[in-house]
Amino acid sequence: MHRLILFDVDGTLLSTNGRAGEAIGAALRETFGTAGRIESFAFAGKTDPQIIYELMAAAGLERSEVAPRLPEVFDRYCGYIAGALTPANTRVLPGVREVLDALASRGDIAVGLLTGNIRRGAEIKLAAAGLLPYFAVGAFGSDDEDRNRLVPVARTRAREHWGEEFPGARTVVVGDAQADIRCARAGAARAVAVASSKTPKCDLAALAPDALLDSLASPAALTALLANDG
Ligand SMILES: [Mg+2]
Repeated sequence: MHRLILFDVDGTLLSTNGRAGEAIGAALRETFGTAGRIESFAFAGKTDPQIIYELMAAAGLERSEVAPRLPEVFDRYCGYIAGALTPANTRVLPGVREVLDALASRGDIAVGLLTGNIRRGAEIKLAAAGLLPYFAVGAFGSDDEDRNRLVPVARTRAREHWGEEFPGARTVVVGDAQADIRCARAGAARAVAVASSKTPKCDLAALAPDALLDSLASPAALTALLANDG
């Protein structure tokens, strides 16, 4: 395998058109009686546990009150998204399927996930979008609340799955948020930023990713993913 390419989920591969955020809100209200200031909350690049701790901290709840009930929140959340997301309302972003097909057809590229979603949540979203079969391994928000610690988790799973190491720039992190670039840096991986969602291209450019694309439909997408300049 030449490379391990790790994709973020929301805003990079797909959009739930706000349904996942609504599901988090409903699960929080049901569990804690409040969703905090969820209407103005910036979700981009954050892990699911981080989102819940930050929302509940703003609503005045201590971390020690929230932590023991995270499983309950996530059970409710997963129930809601499993009921809400369908192939008709889960939008695969432009170029995604073509890029994933092109990588799969090469046979020398290890493809995985690096996402703030808890694993079950990521699987529900990707299954609704018809994308789940592309990803053999992943690192998730359920592995660590801190996204910056997820590259080593993904590398370990990749080694277990493919029997190979993917040190340094042989690992590529693809994402739409500044947090994706930061977590690539934290893991000494290559960072490919995609301005396909809410984060403006200039904000991504400010962190100097190794490549910056308008979307995965860009003619330069495959070249950027497979470049050897890391
Ligand atoms: Mg994202």
